Amino acid sequence: MDTKEMIKINQLNKSFGDLHVLKGIDMTVYESDVVCLIGASGSGKSTLLRCLNFLEKKDNGNIIIKGKEVDPNTDNLNKIREKVGMVFQHFNLFPHKTVLENIIEAPIMVKGVDKEEAISKAKQLLSKVGLEDKLDVYPNKLSGGQKQRVAIARALAMEPEIMLFDEPTSALDPELVGEVLATMKELAEEGMTMVVVTHEMDFAKEVADWIVYMHDGKIVERGNPEQFFSNPKEERTQEFLKTTI
Ligand code: ADP
Ligand code: MG
Repeated sequence: MDTKEMIKINQLNKSFGDLHVLKGIDMTVYESDVVCLIGASGSGKSTLLRCLNFLEKKDNGNIIIKGKEVDPNTDNLNKIREKVGMVFQHFNLFPHKTVLENIIEAPIMVKGVDKEEAISKAKQLLSKVGLEDKLDVYPNKLSGGQKQRVAIARALAMEPEIMLFDEPTSALDPELVGEVLATMKELAEEGMTMVVVTHEMDFAKEVADWIVYMHDGKIVERGNPEQFFSNPKEERTQEFLKTTI
């Protein structure tokens, strides 16, 4: 079987003013891969994800999505964001919209999906994340774990081919983390291509195909979970793993 390159990044650089945050990142993500991106706070993980979704503009380097280099100056970024869904630490649900309205908004407004069709798809997605009974509820009536599952359903409603997760469980009470990770694991098992920034090392060990460790704007080490966690090659990685396990 051909393995399709879903994301390819060459020599990506990004600065905020004088702060050089991404320092020549190279990365390839193949179809159905789950990549867990780990590293200390401030190492550039969120900036990298945001560049991949064009929420931040790279300074230089190439970002190639499904074989096509994206030029943020000329390409329709909304079209690209349809392919690349993103889930954030803080859910970012619309507070004044119900769960259903949150999910159907973008398919209708951005993709021009028919309302009935959007509703029917939203219901399917809500039952997939175990929240079919929360259709008409407002976000403030949901637990953090439920909000995050709605946020995942909302991203999936655009039928993305790649999903980016930026610390999706970091804002949750410990007892709510499992339900969100279970939803993500299911998605991974269905073959979704995923890049997940996480501190959940057990999830990374179990679900990831590849672990990528970032430090100070650079990729220090990558490997499959077995090799990475049991036999990290770089001293930096060894130090980092000591602090997290
Ligand atoms: P991580 O997600 O690994 O914690 P970030 O990508 O959020 O790291 O941040 C990397 C560095 O870039 C940090 O020093 C952070 O303060 C800085 N940074 C991130 N976003 C901005 C921004 N919009 N403006 C200025 N500095 C930023
Ligand atoms: Mg971050």
